[in-house]
Amino acid sequence: MSAKLIKGTEIREQILTEIADEVATIKRGHGAVPGLVTILVGENPASISYVTLKIKTAHRLGFNEIQDTQPIDIPEEELLALIDKYNNDDTINGILVQLPLPDHIDEKKVLNALDPDKDVDGFHPINVGRLMIGGDEVKFPPCTPAGIQEMIVRSGIETKGAEVVVVGRSNIVGKPIANMMFQKGPGANATVTVVHTGTKNLDAHCKRADILIVAAGVPDLVKPEWIKPGSCVIDVGVNRVGEKPSKKDPNKMVAVLKGDVDFDAAKEIAGYITPVPGGVGPMTITMLMKNTLKSLKFKLGIQ
Ligand code: NAD
Repeated sequence: MSAKLIKGTEIREQILTEIADEVATIKRGHGAVPGLVTILVGENPASISYVTLKIKTAHRLGFNEIQDTQPIDIPEEELLALIDKYNNDDTINGILVQLPLPDHIDEKKVLNALDPDKDVDGFHPINVGRLMIGGDEVKFPPCTPAGIQEMIVRSGIETKGAEVVVVGRSNIVGKPIANMMFQKGPGANATVTVVHTGTKNLDAHCKRADILIVAAGVPDLVKPEWIKPGSCVIDVGVNRVGEKPSKKDPNKMVAVLKGDVDFDAAKEIAGYITPVPGGVGPMTITMLMKNTLKSLKFKLGIQ
């Protein structure tokens, strides 16, 4: 059997089209567009390429996009003052502080300084609490887990009563997706198990999964014999395992990426599987845009 591919690139296009339509409607009706500011401290190349992609996507959707780049030695209090400025700027609906921050800045202090109603990444403790409560309380589900849930729902996979096993317990993927999948409501209502480095018999847990979500950051951690035949496998892992010449420019080297699941073997057993790259990856920025639009809608009272 060969699994059906869940392509993040295709689902991204569907969602971005929906967002662009909604932005145009709101602009016509209310004269407002979503405002997103990205604060980048320093010139970390990985952060720059991620931020560049965010800017491109925001422009394509007709957002008011502000790129605020600060020097690597910006004092912490200046960065906090900048956040305060955007917290009080009515044209800004989403504030994103690109991580990692330099060592002299307390990351936690900075993230906690964001207005929770503009925290479109969903990492502020208030938004983490809202996610845990679930239902109408949730304002901004964190982007990668929200993308995973969209992929599952849009692929028509039944979650109610399903055995979901999440590999990994990070604050940005494992914990929030586990929490989202057991909530009462559409695209959830599952029975969730979280496994991690302290778990015994990882394979036995994975084998029970109707939906297996893997976010460990270990290439090929999940072996084909750990996969329940016909199940849905969501591979969140992005591991750089080498370099190869770019297809566009053979003189340039690009990273070879691998997921946490042995894809070639797993696709013969699973019913659905996400590829790496092109699976979960494209969903994160997409859901960031969705959260920024949501923030504007909350402000305008048009939820
Ligand atoms: P993390 O390192 O913060 O957490 C990894 C988790 O996996 C930990 O909780 C750990 O307990 C668990 N783990 C690690 N090795 C394990 C093992 N051998 N057995 C069982 N559990 C194990 O990582 P993260 O931030 O959650 O990211 C996980 C992976 O997902 C990374 O490859 C990352 O690059 C990728 N990621 C992708 C996206 C995206 O595609 N948009 C977003 C976030 C993270």
